[in-house]
Amino acid sequence: PAAPRLPDTAALRARASSALRRCGARDLDTYADAAATGPTLPARTPLTGAALGHLPATTPGQAEAALAEAHRTFLTWRTVPAPVRGALVKRLGELLTAHQEDLADLVTIEAGKIRSEALGEVREMIDICDFAVGLSRQLYGRTIAGERPGHRLSETWHPLGVAGVISAFNFPVAVWSWNTAVALVCGDPVVWKPSELTPLTALACTALLARAAADTGAPAGVHHLLLGGREFGEMLADDPRVALVSATGSVRMGRQVAPRVAARFGRCLLELGGNNAAVVTPSADLDLTVRGIVFAAAGTAGQRCTTLRRLIVHEDVAEPLIERIVHAYGQLPLGDPFDAATLVGPLVDTAAGTAMAEALAAAQRDGGKLLAGGDRCLAAEAPEAAYVRPALVRMPAQTEIVRTETFAPILYVLTYRTLDEAIALHNGVPQGLSSSIFTRDQREAERFLAPDGSDCGIANVNIGTSGAEIGGAFGGEKETGGGRESGSDAWRAYMRRATNTVNYSADLPLAQGVNFL
Ligand code: NAD
Repeated sequence: PAAPRLPDTAALRARASSALRRCGARDLDTYADAAATGPTLPARTPLTGAALGHLPATTPGQAEAALAEAHRTFLTWRTVPAPVRGALVKRLGELLTAHQEDLADLVTIEAGKIRSEALGEVREMIDICDFAVGLSRQLYGRTIAGERPGHRLSETWHPLGVAGVISAFNFPVAVWSWNTAVALVCGDPVVWKPSELTPLTALACTALLARAAADTGAPAGVHHLLLGGREFGEMLADDPRVALVSATGSVRMGRQVAPRVAARFGRCLLELGGNNAAVVTPSADLDLTVRGIVFAAAGTAGQRCTTLRRLIVHEDVAEPLIERIVHAYGQLPLGDPFDAATLVGPLVDTAAGTAMAEALAAAQRDGGKLLAGGDRCLAAEAPEAAYVRPALVRMPAQTEIVRTETFAPILYVLTYRTLDEAIALHNGVPQGLSSSIFTRDQREAERFLAPDGSDCGIANVNIGTSGAEIGGAFGGEKETGGGRESGSDAWRAYMRRATNTVNYSADLPLAQGVNFL
């Protein structure tokens, strides 16, 4: 059932402008003459596919000045005690809490997320600020048992340098906050290059952080925004003043960024594409499994890095499970993401719609059978937008298209006979982000989590592949890039470790018993 009406572009523009104003950023009307002053960047909404306005893009000169100032700021920020740096992030968390509706509006307008998911994304920002504030008093090193008398061996964690953050369109604010809240308490100023598809959310976050800095007496130079295309991502990758490049996006992007950072021996934190699967065994609780699968596969219109893209089902339960998923897919309300009843909003742009149609055609060429969805909706109301029904495709084998991440709601179904076969299929893709098993059999669950089980950075039992909490380290293996962000000890990527040996004796014993002089 499609919602009959979509909001009009003028109303969305007004709503975006109010949210920006309340966050302390300039509203869209004030950029009317942007084109007269230099290069511009369009702000678009996937809800209608139309442009909301044109923003001034960062110039190369401004980007250079931003990097220089970020580096200068690092030289003082690194000596500010970590709990004092935490006060900045605490204030940021308060401002994000006060403006969660505004930010959620902008996330819906720019990324097309339904209301509850947009609010959930902002909630994640607040959670990571809380986490980082606690972390600011827990950047622990170790004291190590040394082998020499009269010596103390320990390690200290120091700020690393400027953190360059490259982010994707689909988590336009959460990924920034995961990086920024942690980088700031670790003593690293941030230079942010957001997706060119989501500049408005970036302006709002930047304004809120500037306010937090002013309110807490932190230097304004701890954060800089570069609005523009991938050339600014390339600049962050190449510039030796950027100690850490934290890049979230496609495998294609990571393949280009990582060698450039490596060429100058910089540090990279990569959060790239996923091709996440769930194994469903004969003992699975099917009610819970269907709910877990439908949210993970169709939620966010299939545009999460952790979206469920492959279902590996035991052949004994394949038929009843597929039947229930087809039924659930038929009930998913699609349309205006601001409408509280909507569960599936638009894809980010028509190019994503085309990529989905091409993937479905390839899957069918490989012998796949389309069981549900895949059709475009609301094309007459919004010809420049891409509303599509989530697709379910039964595949005879894990062909090349199944092994590829298509950033759209396509769930491929494969069947298996033995758990070994299921795990081999599961791991038989180049990506390694998130994974799940649905089972009530403890042996199967533990095998999936064992060293010869799922090869992903995230492995779940009886819960879908998407929707991670911030307390754990987030990231994946293989082509997903190996980076870890957010909770646990992910903060270590933002700091450098010094090993300290202090001799408080009057002797100079050498390590390993070496005699010299
Ligand atoms: P994208 O790769 O097109 O763009 C991501 C960012 O990289 C953008 O800011 C873009 O301007 C920049 N960029 C692109 N090419 C670059 C280059 N050569 N050098 C420097 N910067 C460059 O990705 P997208 O379409 O915005 O996002 C979707 C992708 O992101 C999916 O593959 C998804 O799985 C992935 N993603 C991963 C995670 C994760 O945590 N693993 C989270 C969100 C999204």
